[in-house]
Amino acid sequence: MKAKCPICRRAVPAGEPDFPFCSPRCREVDLGKWATEEYRIPGEPVYLPEMGRAGQDDGE
Ligand SMILES: [Zn+2]
Repeated sequence: MKAKCPICRRAVPAGEPDFPFCSPRCREVDLGKWATEEYRIPGEPVYLPEMGRAGQDDGE
């Protein structure tokens, strides 16, 4: 089973120590990407209106 590195799109064979990343470098890039996303949304609460609506429909 193979996967593609989400950062550079290279094929990564299962068993790689950094799977699904091709290298520690790409793994760090991905972590940095998530950290950046958090900085862009400082403390904003996450609402899931779709879930609440579905629950009401179920009750009927
Ligand atoms: Zn990579």
